Parts: sequence; structure tokens; C-alpha cells
Amino acid sequence: VTYTIGLDVGGTKIAGGVVDETGAIVHAGRVETPAQDPAAIVRGCADLAGRLARDGGVEIDAVGVACAGFIDADRSTVLFAPNLAWRNLPLRDELAALIGLPVVIENDANAAAWGEFTHGAAEHADGMMLLTVGTGIGGGAVVRGQLLRGGYGIAGEFGHVRVVPGGLRCGCGNKGCLESYASGSALLRAARELVATGGADAIALTQRCGGDPSKLRGADVTELAEAGDIASVELLAEVGTWLGEGAASIGAVLDPDVVVIGGGVSAAGDLLLEPARTAFRRNLIGRGHRPEPEVVLATLGNDAGVIGAGELARQHLEECR
Ligand SMILES: [Zn+2]
Repeated sequence: VTYTIGLDVGGTKIAGGVVDETGAIVHAGRVETPAQDPAAIVRGCADLAGRLARDGGVEIDAVGVACAGFIDADRSTVLFAPNLAWRNLPLRDELAALIGLPVVIENDANAAAWGEFTHGAAEHADGMMLLTVGTGIGGGAVVRGQLLRGGYGIAGEFGHVRVVPGGLRCGCGNKGCLESYASGSALLRAARELVATGGADAIALTQRCGGDPSKLRGADVTELAEAGDIASVELLAEVGTWLGEGAASIGAVLDPDVVVIGGGVSAAGDLLLEPARTAFRRNLIGRGHRPEPEVVLATLGNDAGVIGAGELARQHLEECR
């Protein structure tokens, strides 16, 4: 039996876990991310891994690290991590020196895709694509059992496929990206605009935020939609429709066996997924003359990155044998 550690480094916290061969997290821990200090984040990763190895009570063979950033093609260097102050950081070797174990690094959305592929919603599929719908949209894909990394390690940035020429300005600098229309931020923006109109259909949302649109949260929209508020149902349907159309466009390139939807907004379940499925089917290339990929919810939740990172570390060990 081999055990690995998976770490998921985000802008506010580092989550970690000891992962066994079945993809189960047998011991978990987390620390805050000292996000302004690049070296301190590396030490934080090493300390958490060390603590997990000690407290987990099992022998660890390798460590996988998922982080929100661009990783170079040979998976040694974090080129750019917008929320972590990491720029051209040789993370793999620095961490391996601190921990004394083999280290694998990967983009967090790619690691989550690998987690869902190996032990989650797509574990019986040969390939898949994951769209993680949170504040933004992350993604990753597995094609014929291989994580799609691309020539420079940047593949899978599905949130930045352009869906509206000359559309809204995105955080990436381009205009009209999918994540400006199909993310949690897009949902909140539309909900706040609706409240600001003062219209009759915005009554429930207006009451929820006490008339102050800036106090509205994404979870409010989901909760009201679940309680039957028509405007909130429609707001989620709009985001779901964008998501399904985007997934169909990306699917024209990747031909996924299954489409997995994860991230915080996916907590809305079928309120998001049914409109996404409808739009996906309607825009799927070759529709009516081909098998249709299922559009399903992710099953690993926030653990996908940790499990995927741990699993990538295990895969690395197997490749070295
Ligand atoms: Zn963008």
C-alpha cells in the first residue's frame, strides 16, 4: 500500500491530505496561506506536508501540489500565480529539498480534473472535461486517460474561451470570456443588476439583501431559487445556459466522454445543470448522429484538488518504477 500527500494551495488557505490508493483522504489538515510572501508559502506547504506525514501515522512516498497558477510544461516551475505572489518559482525542487520526498506540481483545476477522473464523477470514463464554476471558471480535461497539459503546460483554461466578441472585460485582460457570463461572479452581477432595477420580480432578492445589492451573495440566489423564487431560478438558468453553450464549444475540440460540472455554483444542482444540459445538447456538434456525453455534477467537492494532487504524485512514482 502506498500513501501520498496532496496539497491544494489557494489564495486564502492551503488544504492538505494523506491520500490512499482508493483516493480516500485518510488524514486531513489545513493552514492559512501567507499569500504576500512567496517564500513563506513554500515553507507553509512543507510544514503542512511534514505535519500530515507525522500525524497520519503512515509512510508517505511522494507529495503532489495543486496551485492556482500557470505551471510550466515540465511541471517544475510556477510561471505565474496571480493570487500567490509566485513568479517563475522553481516550486518542485524547492519543496522536494525541504520535504525530502519526490514532489509533483500541477495547476489546481487540472489536479481537480484528475481527481474527478480517477476517483470521482468520471472514474468509469476514458476521458472527460471538468468545468469548475466558482468566482471564475477553471477547467481541466483528460483525453484517453492522459491529463491534457498542452505544449506549454497552459491547456484547459476553459473560462477564457471567448463567447461574446467585444463583450465584458475579463480579469485576464481579454473581452467576452466565458467566465464573465457563466461564473459565480456573473450570477451575482446579474442578480445585483436585477435588484437595482427595483422591479416587481426582484422582490425576494431585494428583501434578502435589505435593498442593498452589494450585500447580496451568490448563495442567496441559490437558496431563493431552491425556495421557488422565479427570478432566482431564471438567473441560474441564464448562467447554466451560457455554461452549456460554452461546454458544447469546448466539446467540439475535445470530444469528452463525460462533462463534469464542479465548483461552488454547482451546489445549485439541477437548477444550474438542467439548463446547461439543454444548451449543451442544442449546441453539440453532430447532435442527433452521435452519442451524447452526459453532463454530471462533480462528486469530490472541495477535495478534488487534494485527491487529484495526491493521485498525480502516485502516478509519478509508478512512472519512475
Ligand atoms: Zn478571460
